[in-house]
Amino acid sequence: MPDYYQVLGVDRGSSQEAIKKSYRKLALKYHPDKNPGDSQAEQKFKEAAEAYDVLNDPQKRAQYDQFGQVRGNGGQPGGFDFDLSDALRTFMSGIGSFSGFGGFDEFFGGSSRQRTAGGSDLRVTIPLTYEEIATGIEKTIRVKRFESCPTCDGSGAAAGGGTITCQQCRGTGQIRQVQRSLLGQMINVQPCRNCGGTGRVVERPCGTCHGEGRTKMTKQIKIDVPAGVAAGNYMTLSGEGNHGRHGAPPGDLLVMFDEQRHNILTRHGSDVLLDVSISFAEAAMGTAIKVPTLEGMANLKIPPGIQSGHLLRMRGKGFPELRGRGRGDQLVRIQVITPQQITREQRKAYEELQSLESQIPEAGRFRKFEG
Ligand SMILES: [Zn+2]
Ligand SMILES: [Zn+2]
Repeated sequence: MPDYYQVLGVDRGSSQEAIKKSYRKLALKYHPDKNPGDSQAEQKFKEAAEAYDVLNDPQKRAQYDQFGQVRGNGGQPGGFDFDLSDALRTFMSGIGSFSGFGGFDEFFGGSSRQRTAGGSDLRVTIPLTYEEIATGIEKTIRVKRFESCPTCDGSGAAAGGGTITCQQCRGTGQIRQVQRSLLGQMINVQPCRNCGGTGRVVERPCGTCHGEGRTKMTKQIKIDVPAGVAAGNYMTLSGEGNHGRHGAPPGDLLVMFDEQRHNILTRHGSDVLLDVSISFAEAAMGTAIKVPTLEGMANLKIPPGIQSGHLLRMRGKGFPELRGRGRGDQLVRIQVITPQQITREQRKAYEELQSLESQIPEAGRFRKFEG
């Protein structure tokens, strides 16, 4: 087993940054595209990638430092049988992204998966009031999207016309492009745009969709908004997005929910918050008032002797839980209001009240400020 530090030409105590830098230099130097047919360079490239793969991973590096080997996936010691594609993958992850490369598979032309031009996803946002969220609601929205062309049934062909092999990709559905770059020749594979990756085009295009097999239409969609959703929640309606060209499968419709601001209530998770002002007299003697809730006005009993800042809980008056059976509460914060202007009569009454009130004892007047 080679000494990974030696392979990368770094000291045992080197930083990740130094290891990365050194690997980068070696990988660029020995990259197979720069040294076509040079098996020695390929060997060096693989070794560097293997060394980097271990030393760049703190866990693997610690294991290597301690035991001089690393357990591979197969459980064998030193189980790093690096083939060229592993090395190239490591090369890509170590080097970062180069502009102009679509991605690893495209870059090396090694894509085994057939890209077809399916329809794109659509996204709509539905604003909801608190009341709508509280009960859940069925909403009908209008979506402008590509639909399968009714004239040609999505085929894109005029009546009686068939399909012929696409001339641009010669029926392969793929366009290969050879690009020159600092690393040598790159092969870039993309789905053919002319035929949408199918390899065939229509002989005579349909007059309605001009051969696309789809047309833009406005569609009404009913959306069952469940009770208790919050801003940022979304639903995916699969297959309700744009239809693809030439009958390719449709994308999805993403329905995002948004909350409209309520003029008096504030949502906090599944609870509702509300500030309520009361007078001295109401605070001292207690009272019953009506307060706004998600379901209209509701009775709230304020017990005698309530203090300013005290919270009263109205059980079950909050939002329903989205995926549960429970409901949140409405929390009412009491604020005792001091009158800023008083009439002469009120003043007399307050003076009389003061003479009857027991004074706040000195010992109870001062308390430590606790945040
Ligand atoms: Zn058509
Ligand atoms: Zn084509």
